[in-house]
Amino acid sequence: MIERNTGFANLAAGYLFPEVAKRRREYLEKHPDAKIISLGIGNTTEPLTPHITSAMVTYARGLGTKVGYSGYGDEQGLSSLREKIADVVYANLGFSSNEIFISDGSKCDIARIQTLFGRKVPIAVQDPAYPVYVDGSVIVGAAGKSGRNGYKGVTYLPCTAENGFFPDLSAVKPDSLIYFCSPNNPTGAACTKSQLKKLVDFANQNGCIIIFDSAYSAFIRNDKLPRSIYEIKGAKKCAIEINSFSKLAGFTGVRLGWSVVPNELKYADGSSVREDWNRVMTTLFNGASNIAQQGGLAALDPKGIEETTGLVDYYLENARLMEEALRGENFAAAGVRVYYTGDSPYLWVNFPGWKSWDIFDKILDECRVVTTPGSGFGPSGESYLRFSSFGHRDDVREACRRLAQLKLV
Ligand SMILES: *Cc1c(COP(=O)(O)O)cnc(C)c1O
Repeated sequence: MIERNTGFANLAAGYLFPEVAKRRREYLEKHPDAKIISLGIGNTTEPLTPHITSAMVTYARGLGTKVGYSGYGDEQGLSSLREKIADVVYANLGFSSNEIFISDGSKCDIARIQTLFGRKVPIAVQDPAYPVYVDGSVIVGAAGKSGRNGYKGVTYLPCTAENGFFPDLSAVKPDSLIYFCSPNNPTGAACTKSQLKKLVDFANQNGCIIIFDSAYSAFIRNDKLPRSIYEIKGAKKCAIEINSFSKLAGFTGVRLGWSVVPNELKYADGSSVREDWNRVMTTLFNGASNIAQQGGLAALDPKGIEETTGLVDYYLENARLMEEALRGENFAAAGVRVYYTGDSPYLWVNFPGWKSWDIFDKILDECRVVTTPGSGFGPSGESYLRFSSFGHRDDVREACRRLAQLKLV
């Protein structure tokens, strides 16, 4: 018999979202008529926009004709899309198109990136964090068994209200791979230039590489905040940036993302990370959907940008309504603290004296609203809930009305 990859044995059971779904199901079994509203998901809800949809439809129709048909394309993506991302998303940052790689989404890129660094690399992550950074590392064997302080080989960097959700980096081991997400899922915190400078300087001084997940960069509305890590001097020497059309243009189901691997980024032996990434993408990946890539090109047209800005504004308005509700008297009286700066789809809300799952249950019970327990993203998320602004406006308004009725004291 063949031995199982020990990474799978090391992996603790996926708990958060299955448990949320289970509690929701159990509630519905007891209250079959309850109209539950979900503010728990990190999934987009609003339709694709017209300019982008029409580009994909036109291209898809062409695929049904002799002249319009195309099969495999370059594994790294359409050169026109790579150039457009370099020119539009990273304007003035001096990237050439060969440093941009098109993919089927950032989660997939995060998983593939772990093949670049082998099993010995120490890992550092924000706590709380998006689960794939650590779970993916465990599967490939770069992190070990799970114990009381998390997985072996992983350094957890608490991001708390006390440190403004920006971690103390001094615990990071030299030559680590640092996963970093800003604007952050789940805390919603968007780093300032000086915070990112600290991160970049630390990485350069300590031989670290940063995997910078900027999936929510389109939600940044404060012009003083950096939208890319490459706005920081020295970042091309120490960072890979991963981004996606998922939250930017509602492509969660269409599937399209990209990674930036600068020519300057080198391993300890001086060889090029970009060349290995090129090898990974041409070997383990076979190109993003050509229809999706046409959608991506359209999304970066002036018309597409106007549309996606409107789409993101819609969710930001949802977030503003939720913020208003969560800052209501009933919450304030219980000492509830809402962390939200307006640059992310997520509100991070602290309920002093409550365990995350207990306040989750109470809000499900009394408001019929599903949230996400902060503790599911890591120990520093205990006593928090994440409220997501991905939802239809009417549902969000109704959820806000119900939350306003909640009695906490
Ligand atoms: C939603 C999300 C992504 C995007 O994943 P895709 O695979 O591109 O859909 C990446 N990182 C974080 C933190 C996310 O929340």
